[in-house]
Amino acid sequence: MRKIEHIGIAVNSLELSNVLFEKLFGTPPYKQEEVESEGVKTSFFMNGPNKIELLEATNSNSSIAKFLEKKGEGIHHIAFDVQDILAEIDRLKNEGFVVLNETPKKGADNKLVAFLHPKSTNGVLIELCQEMR
Ligand code: ZN
Repeated sequence: MRKIEHIGIAVNSLELSNVLFEKLFGTPPYKQEEVESEGVKTSFFMNGPNKIELLEATNSNSSIAKFLEKKGEGIHHIAFDVQDILAEIDRLKNEGFVVLNETPKKGADNKLVAFLHPKSTNGVLIELCQEMR
């Protein structure tokens, strides 16, 4: 695993949170994208070298809807940049982590992603992400 790629924050309203985070960072989101398969709408902010992803649920079955229902708004996941996601999934499985996506899926922002179950990572949902080439 290399650097933190981004931090994902679950929000009730992307529209309201876009305004809030634009004020916070002094710059608008550089990208907004819906990932239909995941039932989420996302927007991405750069603040210096750091990337923040805001996530809003688009339907009640979305994992973001369930998270918001249980925990309310807040940090949802931490994403780490990996060079070879398949190798990393293998390595982490062998180390005993619970990998939620043995086959990486297409995430937002041109990434292949896989998640580790928070029960195997001290309650933190971890996303592995590899730039699609
Ligand atoms: Zn993410």
